[in-house]
Amino acid sequence: MILIRMISKNFFIGVTVLFVILACSWCSAAHAIIDKPILWNAERERLIREYATLHYGKSETTIIPQAVVVHWTASGSFSSVYNHFFKVAMSDGTLNVASHFVVDRDGTVYRLTSETALNRHIIGYNHIAIGIENVGGVSGKEDLTAAQLQSNIALIRYLKEKHPTIRYCFGHYQQVKARETGLYVEKVPDYFSKKIDPGKKFMNGLRQALESDGLVFFND
Ligand SMILES: [Zn+2]
Repeated sequence: MILIRMISKNFFIGVTVLFVILACSWCSAAHAIIDKPILWNAERERLIREYATLHYGKSETTIIPQAVVVHWTASGSFSSVYNHFFKVAMSDGTLNVASHFVVDRDGTVYRLTSETALNRHIIGYNHIAIGIENVGGVSGKEDLTAAQLQSNIALIRYLKEKHPTIRYCFGHYQQVKARETGLYVEKVPDYFSKKIDPGKKFMNGLRQALESDGLVFFND
């Protein structure tokens, strides 16, 4: 009787431990990225095709990712960014801007589209780049948080592992320097806008953490 009780007690402990391990791994996997899709319809696809044809001379709506481009939103809340990206068209009727991921101030990671969708987030590289927007940078202030840095590091590692074609990581402000990659394509003459996001401090933090993972960064 005592033996049976001991076996059943140990069995119970074993099952409990197993359950906790499974539950924890499920939690971390499930909570690492929150899917919050923006509107994806035939109109968005049509506008992507139109944008890709005009700017890249190709009509694909999907990409083979070769770079991760990091941004800040220059606005203060996730909901304002999400609502802005949700719409498919800009006021001039062209494809609206959007990025694949948005990282909130507390480090929460939201996935807004498929990782291989062509999104409009950086002139000259949308045909090969996954975009990560970070909530912050209002009035150009370098105020991205430590939690955002840690989430970006984990997210970029995850992306590099999942898409082995990814070789480069750069900030939006490094868009001219990044032409060294040979990936820049822009068919519309003089189509360019200067950027400062997401700040040098944030990119230095990413470089220090991720350079040893085989990603190519730029110094300035
Ligand atoms: Zn940007």
